[in-house]
Amino acid sequence: MDSILQRAADGGRITPEEALLLYTDAPFHALGEAADAVRRRRYPDGIVTYLIDRNINYTNVCVTACKFCAFFRAPKHKEGWAHPMEEILHRCGEAIDLGATQVMLQGGHHPEFGVEYYEDLFSNVKQAYPQLAIHSIGPSEILHMAKVSGVSLEEAILRIKAAGLDSIAGAGAEMLPDRPRQAIAPLKESGARWIEVMTIAHRNGLSSTATMMMGTGETNIERIEHIRMIRDCQDLAVANGYRDDAVETSHQVGGFRAFIPWTYQPENNHLKGRTQATTMEYLRFIAVSRLFFDNVAHLQASWLTTGKDVGQLALHLGVDDLGSIMLEENVISSAGARHRSNLHELIWMIRTAGRIPAQRETLYRHLAVHYTEADDPTDERVVSHYSSIAMPEGGRKNLPLVEVQ
Ligand code: SF4
Repeated sequence: MDSILQRAADGGRITPEEALLLYTDAPFHALGEAADAVRRRRYPDGIVTYLIDRNINYTNVCVTACKFCAFFRAPKHKEGWAHPMEEILHRCGEAIDLGATQVMLQGGHHPEFGVEYYEDLFSNVKQAYPQLAIHSIGPSEILHMAKVSGVSLEEAILRIKAAGLDSIAGAGAEMLPDRPRQAIAPLKESGARWIEVMTIAHRNGLSSTATMMMGTGETNIERIEHIRMIRDCQDLAVANGYRDDAVETSHQVGGFRAFIPWTYQPENNHLKGRTQATTMEYLRFIAVSRLFFDNVAHLQASWLTTGKDVGQLALHLGVDDLGSIMLEENVISSAGARHRSNLHELIWMIRTAGRIPAQRETLYRHLAVHYTEADDPTDERVVSHYSSIAMPEGGRKNLPLVEVQ
C-alpha cells in the first residue's frame, strides 16, 4: 500500500487494480496526503479556482427518460417546455451582467432538435455575446442531434463547433460501464459511445470535461472502471497530440481538462431510493481520482450535491477547483440538490482552506487572483440560483414558454 501511494504521489501511474485497493483499503489520511501531494506538485502556487457561469436549459422535453432524472418531461407532456431564443439570450445577458464568463446550455433530447437547432442556438448566443464561452451539451445530445438530422457524429461536431460551441460539457457520463448504465438509463447511449463522441471531439480540437454520478448502486469495481475508460480516452488524445484549438499552455494537452465526480440526488425521479455514496466514499473517490488521473490536469469538487463543508474538505484531498457559483441550475436541483452559495462564500471557503482563490475561465486560465481580502470582488448579486426555476422561491414569474406538440 505504501509503495503504491508513494508512486502515485510522485506522479507515477497506478493500475485500476491498485486504484481499487487504495479506494477500499488505504488509510484515509495517507490517501488524502498522497492526493494532496499531487495537487501541490501540479499547482505549487496554492491557487484554487472557481468560475462564474449559468446553466441555461433550452428544453425539458426528452425522449430518453433516464430513471434518475427529475428534470425531463416526455414529449406532449403538459409540463413540457422549450424556451424561445429571446429568453435564452436574455438569460445570457443577465449572466454577463453578473460577471459570468461561461454558459452551460443544457437540455433534454427533444425529438425535433437536430443539428440545425443547435447551430441556431450557439450562433445566436455567440453573435450576441462573443465574450461568453459556450461550454455546453454532452455526448448524448450530440448523438441525438446527429440521429435526428441524419448526419455523422463528425459532421454534427464540426457544425456545432463552427456555430460557436467552445467546449463540450462532460454531462451524461453518469456511470460508463454497461451494467450500472443500463440499470439507470436504459435508453441512453452506451458508455463506449460516450467515449467515442468525446474522442471525435478531441480529435477536432474541441476539449471537454468528464463527470461521474456516484451513488445509484454501482459497485466499487464499476466506479474504478468508469475512470479507467476516461483515462484510456485521454491517453489516446495525449498520444495523438489532441488539444483544444484555443489552448496554448502545455499542461493541457489532451481532450479532458477536468474530472468532476458528483453524487446522485434522489428526489422526484423514478429511481428514488437514496444516495448510496456516503461522504467518506465520495472523499475517498476524490483522492483516488487525483492519484489515478496522471493525465488530466484538474479535479473539481461538487459542493452543489455534497454540500459546502464536504466541498471544502475535498480541497485537502487533491482538488484544485471548486467549480461554479452556478447563477442558475435546474437539473440537479430538481432532484433535490439544495445547496446554495455566493461569490463571497466560495472565496471564503477556498481561503480558509489555506488556498489562494482565483477566478478562472473555461480553459482554466486565471482571470483574477485574490491574494488578500483587498483583492476580493464586491458584487453582492453573484449568488447561486439567481433565477432558477427549480427553486420554489427563485425564478421569474410568467416565464414565456413554448408549448411542445
Ligand atoms: S438526464 Fe438528460 S437524457 Fe436523461 S432523461 Fe434527463 S434530460 Fe433526458
